Amino acid sequence: MSILIKNSENLGDVYVEGNEIESVGKGASSKSRRKTDHVIDAKGKAVLPGLVNTHTHAAMTLLRGYGDDMLLHDWLTTKIWPAEEKLKPEHIYWGTRLAALEMIKSGTTCFNDMYFFMEETAKAVRDSGLRAVLGYGFLDLFKEEKREKEIKETETFVKFVEGFGLERVKAAVAPHAVYTVSKEGLEWCKEFADEKGLLLHIHLSETRKENEDCVDANGKRPVPYLDNIGFLGENVIAAHCVWVTKGEVRTLAERGVKVSHNPTSNMKLATGGVMPYKEMHEAGVVIGLGTDGAASNNNLDMFEEMKVAALLQKAHRWDPTVLPAGEAWQMATINGAKALGINTGEVKPGILADLILVDLHRPEMTPNHNLVSNLVYSASGSVVTHTICDGQLLMDERVVEGEDKILEKSERIAKELIGNS
Ligand SMILES: [Zn+2]
Repeated sequence: MSILIKNSENLGDVYVEGNEIESVGKGASSKSRRKTDHVIDAKGKAVLPGLVNTHTHAAMTLLRGYGDDMLLHDWLTTKIWPAEEKLKPEHIYWGTRLAALEMIKSGTTCFNDMYFFMEETAKAVRDSGLRAVLGYGFLDLFKEEKREKEIKETETFVKFVEGFGLERVKAAVAPHAVYTVSKEGLEWCKEFADEKGLLLHIHLSETRKENEDCVDANGKRPVPYLDNIGFLGENVIAAHCVWVTKGEVRTLAERGVKVSHNPTSNMKLATGGVMPYKEMHEAGVVIGLGTDGAASNNNLDMFEEMKVAALLQKAHRWDPTVLPAGEAWQMATINGAKALGINTGEVKPGILADLILVDLHRPEMTPNHNLVSNLVYSASGSVVTHTICDGQLLMDERVVEGEDKILEKSERIAKELIGNS
């Protein structure tokens, strides 16, 4: 498959051959002697890298709007956990197809996920055409028997994904958090991930309670606790990192830990605290951006997430210069790609062809004094007209194949899941 994107307003022509960007700029097409399978007229449009969502629970789209405006504990115990008890494989498949559809329509081409029945997530990613890093949510709840089960589940899932033989679907090891996984469980996850060369995806220092409980249980806060057991390293992607001290930020930077910032989820669940972006950025931590699950966001629109991230830091620090638009854009693109260790996040030759086209002929994109400013502060995901992932055209003029079926099926299955409760 080859795609020629012609006459874009920002980069001229972009030529995609197979799953890579072959050339960018004027005359990009003439460099290929082969026939182009698909030509996209990008006049009036900008060609940009697909966005990278570094922390999600994709199938939670089925719980969108099911429980809002509640205290975290009540939300989890009366809404989320009872619903999750009833989850079956087909819920995960269709919930993830719905999430993938939403991501494709709002310009996200890659996501980092942790949940249950991950084989179904992997199938949904395969069928949707997106790129993803997927980890089975490992929760041993400090019980040895359960730990053995979780180890088997993790090993089985990694094998399952390897069996796909698809470059765009990667497995990760995903111990849920320090309050749900024992020291032995965390150590096993670390060892297994290192041995297999996989990412380690974990929730870290999301709430103050998590920190206090960790001190009570282990005599240390989560970051020093994990560092002490040798868990932290370059393959760790830690979601949230809200309740971290300056010293802990230094530890994260020194160990090469990547952080996923999830501002909307943190604000909506109102667990208090704001991730210390300025300190992390200055320490050189690679920070990506995530939406978290749709139950706590409630959408997967990374354009919105960029704006929320920038505004939260400014409001919190009383400083409009913190987290400028350019950095928000980097978080959602190149930094996310770096965090997940994938060769995307830019539009240049030799990079994987994960691309989006953005319509500039829209009121919110006019005038175009500064494209990045418009993308971060003015746009929403609906400005995206075309989405290409791994060299395949997934959305053409806002049309995604099979969209109606996905909407109908996921609506039905979500109603079945939570009934009229
Ligand atoms: Zn999460």
